[in-house]
Amino acid sequence: MIRIRQLTKHVGADRIPVLRNISADIQQGEFIALVGPSGSGKSTLLRCLALKESWDGGSFMINGEDVLKNGISGKLKQRREWAFLEQNPYVNLNRSALKNVLIGRAGQTPVWRMITGMVRSDDYMGAMDTLEELGLLDKAHAKCEKLSGGERQRVAIARALVHGAKVILADEPVNGLDPAAADKVLETLRGLCKQERITVISVLPLEIAERFASRIWGLQGGEIVFDVHGRRLTYGEKNML
Ligand code: ADP
Ligand code: MG
Repeated sequence: MIRIRQLTKHVGADRIPVLRNISADIQQGEFIALVGPSGSGKSTLLRCLALKESWDGGSFMINGEDVLKNGISGKLKQRREWAFLEQNPYVNLNRSALKNVLIGRAGQTPVWRMITGMVRSDDYMGAMDTLEELGLLDKAHAKCEKLSGGERQRVAIARALVHGAKVILADEPVNGLDPAAADKVLETLRGLCKQERITVISVLPLEIAERFASRIWGLQGGEIVFDVHGRRLTYGEKNML
């Protein structure tokens, strides 16, 4: 489904490599964790996949189509179907969880609907169903400023789903959450992979990656130094980071 070949990126005047020959195939429903030391290229790789940053060599294909050769409509489709979760969930604190889910990601709601606040009843039902699925039904009408960090992150996930996300990219989505809240966010993501065949690619601490991910990529110096499926890391692999 997603095919990455020899993805390479250099930065600055001295063309320092930050991504080196990244190659991988990703299937729908996988939960991939990116682990590695600070500066190893995890965020850069994620941002390239989100089309938030460019690269200078290699290719990245979705369902057989090169994303760079896709026209505007293809890029817009990817923007819609690929959600990006920030470390600090991007939610409007002055609005309810439900409103945040309905308003959607920036630029995807018609202007007249944002102004009038009108929503279609099927949108409303869909949003409530998703909030329920993520364990947020009783918080639907609570202002986001009253919600905990973990709940806000789940609101951001709900919004991505309501807007048709098929791939969720996340950069350290549980940093700063207490362990119970972090587990809940990660259980939510894992459940979406298993039940809805959503694909998740997330930067995570190693011990969390081992508990939740179906696959772990170890990054070091801009390279994938191991790609492990369905098991914990060996001592040797941990030592490579
Ligand atoms: P990680 O998320 O694994 O900590 P990053 O992807 O943020 O790593 O960064 C990888 C390396 O690339 C770091 O050394 C960082 O300083 C460098 N880097 C990333 N983007 C740029 C840029 N635009 N200009 C200069 N250096 C950059
Ligand atoms: Mg980073």
